[in-house]
Amino acid sequence: MLYHPITDINGVGPKKAAILKEEAGIENIEDLLYYIPRAYTDRSSFKKIADCLVDENVSVSGEIKRLNVAAWPRKRLEVEIDDGSDTLTGIFFAGISYFMKTFNIGEEIIFAGKITFYKQKQMIHPEHDFPGDALNTARIVPLYRSTERLKKAGFDSKGFRKIVKSALSATENIYDAIGGIAAKYALPGLKDALNWIHFPETFEHAENARRRLAFNEIFFLLFYISLSKAYIRQNPSEVSAKYSDDLCGKFIESLPFTLTDGQKNAIDEIKADMSAPFPMNRLLQGDVGSGKTVVALAAAMLPISADRQAAFMAPTEVLAKQHFETIKKLLPPDIKNVLLTGSSSSAERNKALNGLADGSIKLITGTHALIQNDIRFKDLAYIIIDEQHRFGVKQRAMLREKGEKTDLLIMSATPIPRSLSMTVFGDLDISSIKNLPSCRKPVKTLAFHKSKIDGVYKSMEKYIKQGRQIFYVLPLIDDSEKIDLESATAVYTKLAENIFSHRRVALIHGRLKQNEKDQVMSGFAGGNIDILISTTVIEVGIDIPNASIIVIEHPERFGLSQLHQLRGRVGRGEHESFCVLVYDDNISAESRKRIEVMLSTNDGFVIAEEDLKIRGSGEITGTRQHGYSEFEFADLIGDIDIITAARDEAAAEVKKIVNIGEALENCLKGSPNSLVDGIRKKRAVEILS
Ligand code: ADP
Ligand code: MG
Repeated sequence: MLYHPITDINGVGPKKAAILKEEAGIENIEDLLYYIPRAYTDRSSFKKIADCLVDENVSVSGEIKRLNVAAWPRKRLEVEIDDGSDTLTGIFFAGISYFMKTFNIGEEIIFAGKITFYKQKQMIHPEHDFPGDALNTARIVPLYRSTERLKKAGFDSKGFRKIVKSALSATENIYDAIGGIAAKYALPGLKDALNWIHFPETFEHAENARRRLAFNEIFFLLFYISLSKAYIRQNPSEVSAKYSDDLCGKFIESLPFTLTDGQKNAIDEIKADMSAPFPMNRLLQGDVGSGKTVVALAAAMLPISADRQAAFMAPTEVLAKQHFETIKKLLPPDIKNVLLTGSSSSAERNKALNGLADGSIKLITGTHALIQNDIRFKDLAYIIIDEQHRFGVKQRAMLREKGEKTDLLIMSATPIPRSLSMTVFGDLDISSIKNLPSCRKPVKTLAFHKSKIDGVYKSMEKYIKQGRQIFYVLPLIDDSEKIDLESATAVYTKLAENIFSHRRVALIHGRLKQNEKDQVMSGFAGGNIDILISTTVIEVGIDIPNASIIVIEHPERFGLSQLHQLRGRVGRGEHESFCVLVYDDNISAESRKRIEVMLSTNDGFVIAEEDLKIRGSGEITGTRQHGYSEFEFADLIGDIDIITAARDEAAAEVKKIVNIGEALENCLKGSPNSLVDGIRKKRAVEILS
């Protein structure tokens, strides 16, 4: 019944079915059951007509006394009902002939809507129900997402209520694979959950239903993740990598600094993964400047010393170049290391392709270009991805398929909040570097109102005199985009030609050509620029130890994590560093809160949690296209309790499974592309049954 086509429902023919499929992805009864309301409206207040007040939203019921089509001042149908206490007239301007056929004098009917008054109590276009079948009135009523096409086919909220109601009979004997587990956490059964999510008796019911469906959603995702991990562990590569530690040890000794404890731990964890007979799938998280690159590189010595290859992938060319330069300095000169980006010449590219294919290149740094199809490695053992925390579970699964049992290390400077590390990143093992190198002084953060900008300029001058350099960040490029924000170009003109005309001021933004950007960046890196005015192109990764101040105008235009990233551009050398936020009037309470958080902590882990809280998991939809939130029901902030429970229970269930391989196969059956989606509702049900 659950998997029967939607045409099984009365009133849904092939034409309507096609529209439901195209507009809402609904093909079978189950799809419809999981087409959950976008909101509810409370029509449960049920009153005697005599007690109804004007403007009140209520439901009333009474006997139809009079049906009258009036022509003036506007054609309308008047339906007068009487409940013994008083009378009320429902007014319909549209669908008159239909309603004339539907309503009969002497019948009992329920109306719901807002009370108005003209000569007597009225409701304009009330929702109606006949007694005993309250879908649209006299209850908490679900509202559904609809489109023009759906509406035309009769599927407005009211139309959906009708077909959902009849689909719900399919929940009668629904198999609730993890009902027993959910009950441990006082969550309702699946049957109740599906009924309540559509037609709750109380709002509490609706919320409990949502939590139960969220539990399913998270449970089945983590069940799958746990199952694949178990599978990998049971099916070791034939040849488990035998790596020597010598080169890595020498590399660490050769560094011009000592590693922090966090770095040492992370290297140990990565080395252990690399020596294990299954591929590494690890996230290395640590605040900006915590020294992740060195960690990733130290670990690369293992495969390299075994004559295998490593690839280091960065999100932008600027970063790829910077990593390449850093690596070049640190790497023993006999290890062949190249850079490959979109702007490499074809000669360089060919050389790289050859070197990778014949195995002479041991380490390659570059952009996404590295995982394109025509790039072949002789023996790629290790992929490092920088700053790519925006990959979701699915994208990572796809990426892994590029190599064969390749070890994967993902580096993120935005620490992942706990709820995300359990879910979206649940397939990753996590190493965290929690402390910065001790030589580094924490960045001091200050906030000033725009009216105090002269003081900010004075301090800038003072530090430039001492030889320091300054980042000056603005959200926009030029004035045409939005008039009320001072743009980078305007500020550049003001500072370069006026206030700092005696200093070297430069401008960089995303619309410059690559070589122009590179020129400016290398000028700044080389100490030939005092003030670099910029949009967020400098956001990630750039490492300029002599830059000790970052001024950010219009901080309200940036997200909290972004602000923290920007702050991480300074404080990378031995100099005392500052992050100066220059705000204006008219900033929202939320922006104010972000500034407060910035002032109160330098801890990226705290920032990440606060960021999630301020944005709310609803707004994570902004990153949905990146696969950040693959959840329909779960609230990553509010549901941390059931997320934790679902994770533990899923792991426990996997432990009980005897034939992991078969279970995994079932899990993937029929839904190769929509792994997570397929698992959410269906497949795991079959595995557990
Ligand atoms: P992240 O990528 O975590 O932001 P990086 O790896 O870019 O940090 O390191 C930032 C800078 O700090 C680099 O110049 C790096 O060489 C240096 N560094 C890394 N580890 C240490 C350490 N333990 N002590 C001092 N400096 C370090
Ligand atoms: Mg970095």
